[in-house]
Amino acid sequence: MTRPTAAAERLSRRAGLVLPGGVSSPVRAFRAVGGTPPALISGQGAHVLDEDGNDYIDFVLAYGPHLLGHNPPQVVEAVRRQLERGLAFGATTGVEVELAERLTAAMPSLEMVRFVSSGTEATMSALRLARAATGRDLIVKFAGAYHGHADALLAEAGSGVATLGIPDSPGVPASATAATVVLPYNDAAAVSSLFARRGGEIAAVIVEPVAGNMGCVPPRPGFLEQLRRETSEHGSLLVFDEVMTGFRVSSGGAQSLFGVRPDLTTLGKVIGGGLPVGAYGGRRDLMQMVAPAGPVYQAGTLSGSPAAMAAGIAVLDSLDDEVYERIDDLGARLASALDAAFEAAGWQGTVNRVGGMLTPFIGVDEVSDFASAKHADTAAFAAVHAAWLESGVLWPPSQFEAAFLSTAHSDSDIDHTAGVFAATLTDLSARRAG
Ligand SMILES: *Cc1c(COP(=O)(O)O)cnc(C)c1O
Repeated sequence: MTRPTAAAERLSRRAGLVLPGGVSSPVRAFRAVGGTPPALISGQGAHVLDEDGNDYIDFVLAYGPHLLGHNPPQVVEAVRRQLERGLAFGATTGVEVELAERLTAAMPSLEMVRFVSSGTEATMSALRLARAATGRDLIVKFAGAYHGHADALLAEAGSGVATLGIPDSPGVPASATAATVVLPYNDAAAVSSLFARRGGEIAAVIVEPVAGNMGCVPPRPGFLEQLRRETSEHGSLLVFDEVMTGFRVSSGGAQSLFGVRPDLTTLGKVIGGGLPVGAYGGRRDLMQMVAPAGPVYQAGTLSGSPAAMAAGIAVLDSLDDEVYERIDDLGARLASALDAAFEAAGWQGTVNRVGGMLTPFIGVDEVSDFASAKHADTAAFAAVHAAWLESGVLWPPSQFEAAFLSTAHSDSDIDHTAGVFAATLTDLSARRAG
């Protein structure tokens, strides 16, 4: 049985004429796995529907935001109420202050926040602030980490950059990345050695405290603590990019999970509940440098968009320990079933997971950084992705993207997904052997 795709193909043809690559963001194009992306029309809970009438269990979840699944009624209702009051005012609103109060209460390192419209803006602005506060230029990032598409951060980046094999984007002047140093993730020796040589020049280290854009790669024990220590000792700032992990891996983000307090934090995804939002925040003395409180300029016409703020508040109000326990249980169930599938099919493979963020890396025993992630068998991943799609499972279309779980997923969603994975690996083994 093959799923119907006539409408998807029609949409894809029209899209290709007016949108570069047929998409508004590269990884959506399925270039790494082949096939035509489904023409999605609606989502409810853990499921999405396409124009051809196919139903999918969704592990993309809009690349992270939908911790509670698609369209949770309390979030829809909060947005609807706000829309009736007005879409944008160009003024500080109550909902904006309220969301800021909730964020600062949930994350102790956030003393003040500034809202922006995307994660890209958040990281770009946090680094501008870090450079201004330290009077230094050098930024340290890790290979395979994705911090949005600002020029200075498009050096050995993950996510779509990794998927499409674009080493460095044309259009980024050499001068924009000249002050960016890229180190291997989880490499304590590389960090020590850089700080020993150039510690006095480093404005900030920016890190995904759980990497999610080379696939899910957790920090090694002690790695984040080391970054905290070295930055403090050398007068540099530590920036946690929690655009993906914030309110996903725990209500206080990865910083609360690992007990490491950064100077600045960037947020996005979950805090907008599916509407465009980003935020950066941290130490009060640093945030007081942001205009108009201080001289570091950063602005946005639609920043703090009321509907997005209302969505964020409704999401945050729905989070309690049970939510995170449920998501962690689902994640554990899926990870152990995928692990068992590797074993049963006689495939090398490893499943990296933190809470409801996970990646099965096919064909490798351990993935702790971008170099080891790149050894994964992307052809086998593409075969698994296609089998999933045929069987009603929508998975991120790249070996180098994390999959996400929500409170709306059921045990049977998980079991179906793992079953297709196991059958496909077995099939691939037979085909490769024969
Ligand atoms: C998604 C993501 C970004 C970029 O956010 P956008 O809203 O897509 O600009 C930045 N950092 C991390 C860790 C992300 O996962």
